[in-house]
Amino acid sequence: MSFAASVLTLYPEMFPGALGLSLAGRALEAGTWSLEAIQIRDFATDRHRTVDDTPAGGGAGMVMRADVLAKAIDHASPPGDPRPRLLMSPRGKPLMQARVRELAAGPGAVILCGRFEGVDQRLIEARGLEEVSIGDFILSGGEPAALVLLDAVVRLLPGVMGNAVSGEEESFENGLLEHPHYTRPQEFEGRQIPEVLISGNHKKIAQWRRAEAEKLTRERRPDLLAAAHPLAK
Ligand code: SAH
Repeated sequence: MSFAASVLTLYPEMFPGALGLSLAGRALEAGTWSLEAIQIRDFATDRHRTVDDTPAGGGAGMVMRADVLAKAIDHASPPGDPRPRLLMSPRGKPLMQARVRELAAGPGAVILCGRFEGVDQRLIEARGLEEVSIGDFILSGGEPAALVLLDAVVRLLPGVMGNAVSGEEESFENGLLEHPHYTRPQEFEGRQIPEVLISGNHKKIAQWRRAEAEKLTRERRPDLLAAAHPLAK
């Protein structure tokens, strides 16, 4: 069975967007995954197709209505749908490669994209939405976040990446950032490719890469090292 994504949004035209190109686009065409972008506004009940209203308690901005969103979610994901229901949200759990892997191994995802100030809290609770953040910054809407999440998931689906090994050696997969890369030409503006990489000694090359990865991780992301080796702090 292929990975089925249903995205609830006020801007369905944003999909598949970048995911219609390159690896993800080819996989979409090949049926390795599917994408359905659902217009939330179609589930509004009034003449003006209203999806938001002013915040209870006052303040700036607008809040997406629980009743309209519930109808949209129930349409996209009726009871018994095994797919997790995600809400893209800066208040969510930061997205990590481990969760991306889990999602890629599952049947798909139903993804709600917020706009304005966000969505009514009762909707999050009533539909058991898992809030997912793509980082500590504020986007104008959940759509770019959904594209980021799906890009990360789709490249892990079987058959999408030509060279599966390159996935396993990547940043985060072993709790480390990846080592630096080099390719021809041998000399660039006076800088050489590190000697060991052209030595042909595969054991030395592996050792060098591992050491570089550890050094880079210590310098830039000591938090990753601490998580990977709790005693190595
Ligand atoms: N008022 C909210 C921000 C709303 S931004 C707050 O302060 O928490 C509007 C929408 O963009 C959100 O509902 C969410 O769907 C999306 N969004 C913004 N930043 C995001 C992030 N870092 N990760 C995931 N989604 C995000």
